[in-house]
Amino acid sequence: MKLQEYHAKALLLRQGLPVPDFAIAQSAAEARSAAERFLAGGAGKVVIKAQVLVGGRGKAGGVKLAGSAEEAEQVASAILGMDIKGITVRRVLVAPAAEIEHEYYLAAVLDRASRKVMVMASAEGGVEIEQVAEENPDAIVRVHAHPHLGLLDHQARLLGFRLGLGAHLREFGVIARGLYATMVANDADLVEINPLAVVREGDARSLQCLDAKVTIDDSALERHPDLEQMRDLDEEDPVDVAAREQGLSFIRLDGTIGCMVNGAGLAMTTMDLIKRAGGEPANFLDIGGGAKADKVAAAMTLILADESVRAILVNIFGGIARGDEVAHGLVEARAQQERHVPMVVRIVGTNAELAARILADAGDPDVTTAETLDEAVERVVAASRAPAEASA
Ligand code: GDP
Ligand code: MN
Repeated sequence: MKLQEYHAKALLLRQGLPVPDFAIAQSAAEARSAAERFLAGGAGKVVIKAQVLVGGRGKAGGVKLAGSAEEAEQVASAILGMDIKGITVRRVLVAPAAEIEHEYYLAAVLDRASRKVMVMASAEGGVEIEQVAEENPDAIVRVHAHPHLGLLDHQARLLGFRLGLGAHLREFGVIARGLYATMVANDADLVEINPLAVVREGDARSLQCLDAKVTIDDSALERHPDLEQMRDLDEEDPVDVAAREQGLSFIRLDGTIGCMVNGAGLAMTTMDLIKRAGGEPANFLDIGGGAKADKVAAAMTLILADESVRAILVNIFGGIARGDEVAHGLVEARAQQERHVPMVVRIVGTNAELAARILADAGDPDVTTAETLDEAVERVVAASRAPAEASA
C-alpha cells in the first residue's frame, strides 16, 4: 500500500527525521490560511504540493511556490482538481518553502535477492532515480543493512562521504538510521526521501526531508491498524478494493482466461498448466478456504469485470470448501451476470458429485464440467481461442 506524502512525512517525523512543518488543505481557502500562518511565522515563500500517489508531480505542474497568501490561494485552486497521470488532485500539502542548495536522493528498499534492506543514496537527487540508474549508475551508492544490527554507523558514514556530505556527516547519519528505523517500524517495502536537501536558513545549513514516499507491505498491514487508516481509497483500483473487502486474493494479469481457484498453490499450478497448454491467464485468484456461495459470486463478478476474459476455468479442491456450495455460488453468479463467457468447471473432493448435478440442473449451455485438470485446461484454452459469440 502506497502512502500519500503527508502520511509518509508523518512516519518520518515519528522517527525524529527533519521534515519541515506542513499543513494539508482540501480547498483553496484552507491553503490560503495555512500559507498565512507560515508566512507570518517567517517563511519567505510557501510550497504547494499536489497529494497524489504518483511520482513526478513537480514536472507535471503539481508542485509550485507562492510568495503571498493570495498567490497561495490561486496556486492551490489551480492544483486542486488538476489531473496528474490520470488521478484527480483532492488535497494539497502546504509548507514553508525551503531554500534548496543541493538535492540528494536517499531510500531504503527491500532487496529480495539478498534478503536484506538496502539503503541507496545519490548526490543526484531531485530527479527520478530510475533516470540516474540508467544514465549514471555509478552515481548511486548502495549498502545492505544487517538484518539484526540494522544500518551501522560506518555504513551511514560511507554513504555520507560518497555523497560529498562532509559538513553534514553527523546529521546524515542520524537521517539514514532514522530512514532504516522507519522502514522496520512500519514493515515498509520502500521509504524514499527525494529530495533530501541541504537547505539554507540565513547563514545556517541543514539537511531536510522535502519529499517522502512510503510503501507498506500489504501482508503486514494487519499489525498496523493505524497505517490501514491512511489508505486512500480514491486512488485504488476499484477491483482491488472489492477483492480486499471480500477477502479474495486477486491479481489482474494480461491474458484471456479467468481463473477461480481455492488455495494459492493450486492457483499457481492452474496458471502454469494454462500456460503450458498455450493459454494466458487473465488473473490470479485465490478464493480461500471454505468459500461460501456469496464469495464465489463476488469472485465471478471480479473476473467478468475484465473485458479481455474470453473463458473461465474454475478449479476447486473440496476440502473444507464444499463442492455444492461452490456450485450454488457459480449458478447464482451466472444468473446475475449480463456477460456470458464459456466456463469449464472442475470440482473434486467434498460433495463433488452433488456439485456436478447442481451445475447440470442449472442447464447453462456455456458451462461444462471436467473430470480432470488436464482435460479442463485443454478445453478452456480452446474456448479462449474460439471466435467470440455475437451475443451473450
Ligand atoms: P515529485 O516531483 O513528485 O517528486 O515532488 P517533490 O516534492 O520531490 O518536488 C519536486 C521538486 O520541486 C523538488 O525536486 C524541488 O526541486 C522542488 N521543491 C519541492 N519542495 C520545495 C521547496 O520547499 N522549495 C523549493 N525551492 N523547491 C522545492
Ligand atoms: Mn520527489
